[in-house]
Amino acid sequence: VEQKIRESEKLAVVGELAAGVAHEIRNPLTTLKGFTQTLMNTPSSPEIKTYLTIMLDEIESINLITNEFMVLAKPHMTITTSLDVVPLIKQVTKLLNTQANLNNVILNSEFPIESGKILGEENQIKKMLVNLIKNAIESMPDGGNVTVTATTGEQGTLLLYIKDEGVGMSASELQQLGHPFYTTKENGKGLGLVVSKKIIENHHGNLRFKSKRGQGTIAEISLPALGETIKADDTPLIS
Ligand code: ADP
Ligand code: MG
Repeated sequence: VEQKIRESEKLAVVGELAAGVAHEIRNPLTTLKGFTQTLMNTPSSPEIKTYLTIMLDEIESINLITNEFMVLAKPHMTITTSLDVVPLIKQVTKLLNTQANLNNVILNSEFPIESGKILGEENQIKKMLVNLIKNAIESMPDGGNVTVTATTGEQGTLLLYIKDEGVGMSASELQQLGHPFYTTKENGKGLGLVVSKKIIENHHGNLRFKSKRGQGTIAEISLPALGETIKADDTPLIS
């Protein structure tokens, strides 16, 4: 236990430092992006155009990483806005449909509840859902189904499930989940889950994974529900 605490303290300090640096990188990066875009729109040789396209891609890549670090930096803020996760999930799945289709993945959503409100920051919850759904899609190189479910849990909680039929994880792989920079993907950054975990923590919730190698994965997010969730029917959710 002691070892764990020391590790998480270390992580907090490193995280804060990284986030501070990320913040400082943002402004010069915006300038670089702006001028690169201006050059793109200026007549030049095809060779130069190719270089500029690569530069813009790389700038975007730095942008993504710094944005992830920024989320980690945000201290425990008080979130006071009421947010309905049902329309939000619909919005996010619509957004990710193209990527899913490109990977032969069918993205389904199931709502045994009509409405599920939480105290939440919309952009953060969206980011968290995008990260987890992307992982689900990426776990199925040969395609399959991803199902996102929102329902009521025990004692005033709202439960979200993201279920895939992908490669799954062994017990030792499960243990490494959420460690910064842990990735098994060629182009992975290993930051998506760190950020998602932090966002869920900011919302006083919990993130758990159930998975078996070769049998797919279920990510389970529980969040404190705001008021009563409205049931659509009494269908059981996940077998
Ligand atoms: P990245 O996606 O960049 O690799 P993440 O933090 O999102 O970083 O995920 C870390 C690792 O956790 C992934 O590389 C993968 O090995 C594992 N993982 C996460 N979600 C799933 C999933 N749904 N199915 C199988 N493995 C997963
Ligand atoms: Mg990811």
